[in-house]
Amino acid sequence: MSSDNAQFGLGDTVWIAECGNQQVEKVCPVCFGTLRVTLRLGNGDELELPCDYCGMGYDGPQGHVLEYEWTEGARQATITRVRENHDTRGIERELYASSWEVTDRAFATEKEALAKSAELKAQNEERQRTCAEHIKKSVNKSFSWNAGYHIREAKRCRREAAQHDERAKLCKARAKAKGDADGSTSERQEGAEREGTGGRLD
Ligand SMILES: [Zn+2]
Repeated sequence: MSSDNAQFGLGDTVWIAECGNQQVEKVCPVCFGTLRVTLRLGNGDELELPCDYCGMGYDGPQGHVLEYEWTEGARQATITRVRENHDTRGIERELYASSWEVTDRAFATEKEALAKSAELKAQNEERQRTCAEHIKKSVNKSFSWNAGYHIREAKRCRREAAQHDERAKLCKARAKAKGDADGSTSERQEGAEREGTGGRLD
């Protein structure tokens, strides 16, 4: 529905289509408030991950997200300024009511303004829905990416841990061998001392 704004001039009273919004808290559409999501891998294994969709920020998953709720309405206003831009395509008119530009939202009747308001509300809801879908998809991608990353890191850490274990074992084995060698030396020394002591005692 388009406004036939050419018929309006300075000082005219018109109906303005309005579409306001208010922020509302909604349950997270990904984790449904549970703060965690389960990702099933191709081999049937399941992984639990913290929800990224409601977990943007430092506080981690919240279980809810903020969304806009759009409202419809129409109000009467007076055109306080008309601006005309002349270019090759003709004259383009801009209408203002106080400081608000109302060019595409000014109508002669309340009925027309309300119809436009419903149209704007539907557009905004659709934009929010497609935006949410888009975010959800990229969040889903990040879940599998995160899972892949964590699995890879866990594997790497396990491999490194095994290598460290192996080295630690080797070190222990070496220390033991060295200790044995030292032990026999000290035993020999002790023996020598005992012999020495014994000698002195004799
Ligand atoms: Zn969530």
